[in-house]
Amino acid sequence: MPQALHAEFVNRMTRQVGSDWPALEQSLDGKSPVSIRANPAKQYQGSGISVPWCSTGYYLSERPNFTLDPALHAGGYYVQEASSMLLEQVIRAAVDLDKPLTVLDLCAAPGGKSTHLISLLSAHSVLVSNEVVRSRTTILQENLIKWGQPNSIITHADPARFGAVPGLFDVVLIDAPCSGEGLFRKDDNARQEWSPEHVHHCSLRQRRILADAWGALREGGVLIYSTCTWSPDENEENLHWFAQEHPLSFVDWTAPPAWSVEKIEHKEVRGYRCYTHKVEGEGFFISAMIKHEAAPRSGTDRTPTRHVSKKKELHDWIHYPCEHIIFEQDEFCWLRSVQTAGLAERLREHMPVVSAGTLLAEAKGPKLVPAHALAVSTVLRPEAFPVIELTLDDALAYLRKDTLPHPGTGNGYHLATFHGLPLGWVHVLSNRLNNLYPTEWRIRMDIRRL
Ligand code: SAM
Repeated sequence: MPQALHAEFVNRMTRQVGSDWPALEQSLDGKSPVSIRANPAKQYQGSGISVPWCSTGYYLSERPNFTLDPALHAGGYYVQEASSMLLEQVIRAAVDLDKPLTVLDLCAAPGGKSTHLISLLSAHSVLVSNEVVRSRTTILQENLIKWGQPNSIITHADPARFGAVPGLFDVVLIDAPCSGEGLFRKDDNARQEWSPEHVHHCSLRQRRILADAWGALREGGVLIYSTCTWSPDENEENLHWFAQEHPLSFVDWTAPPAWSVEKIEHKEVRGYRCYTHKVEGEGFFISAMIKHEAAPRSGTDRTPTRHVSKKKELHDWIHYPCEHIIFEQDEFCWLRSVQTAGLAERLREHMPVVSAGTLLAEAKGPKLVPAHALAVSTVLRPEAFPVIELTLDDALAYLRKDTLPHPGTGNGYHLATFHGLPLGWVHVLSNRLNNLYPTEWRIRMDIRRL
């Protein structure tokens, strides 16, 4: 039995949605729809009913055991609830995505919006995915590596740190920590934690994050703010408060009526809300604002030339149509677009940069060991390594890091694939095959007992 809804939540929602409350309340006891977003750069063919507001989103008729699908581990798709995919419409309404953009996803873990954003951006853009909680940067990095795009930087900083890079970003997304009312049907913790005090605490924290992020946005840049809650204090009231303090205008967009997305017109604020009794997805709020305030532009044009690698082999492994540099840092070799390299240098002066670009290889003496990130990256040149296509059973054994039979091929690094999607490396030796799947990502489920 789910935790009963807090009486004060019921009171507020009854005032907020009026006669819709019984339908909304009923929806909170129902089942959550299951949806995925396909990775267009990996040509993963999603199937199912399309999510109307997302070009790569699909509803599944039931929840499969995702852990047992190798395509998920290959970054073929991301499991994401559908309402959050509305980001695609809002950013398209606000920004020309064909231009090279510098984008910050300020509250990024586990990476749902970052993987979506990076698929929408052009190859010359750069996405900085920041996460303040150190332990959560691990899953963020795993998801971004699997997604396979090279124009990505991960930072680990408190939002206030971004005050040191004024006017640096064209777009800042704040997917703010919130009271999670929109997740009540799938997250019992959110129900348990809810209280008027918690909503107030979240609202104050969101105000702090908004104020901290603002300086990093350039004049004319776009701030996108989203939450998975319905509380006006955390959404339109917060944005009204913010608009009183700063010169900005709201991006006015209207969803097709068939989507049943509610448009909020609250004072100067324009926002969009998904209710669970109307939309096939969880509860969600999103709004976009254009900054009309001068911001000193910090340059990103400090492309480093030190540590540039001369290892020809590395250049043969990749196909990357953007101007790029391969760097050596200690024994590691990294690929970065010129824009990514310049931005990473700039950020490194002010905050910890967890990773920038794609790790290509580790040098072990004179030998290069290809990195897992290269195997699942969209820059890997397909002809660069021999391929071993695995059956489903062998793919799952590979992902569990079990021993695989010798393939009877020549020695050397081979790319293990499933349905053509790269999963990782195996190293074939004359008498055995080494499974190089990252130990920390291995499937721990005992598949034989299923
Ligand atoms: N954008 C993510 C996605 O789509 O997968 C979900 C982000 S979640 C709603 C909010 C994130 O904000 C969490 O990762 C949380 O660790 C982080 N967070 C918590 N407190 C924060 C703070 N004071 N400043 C910035 N981020 C914070």
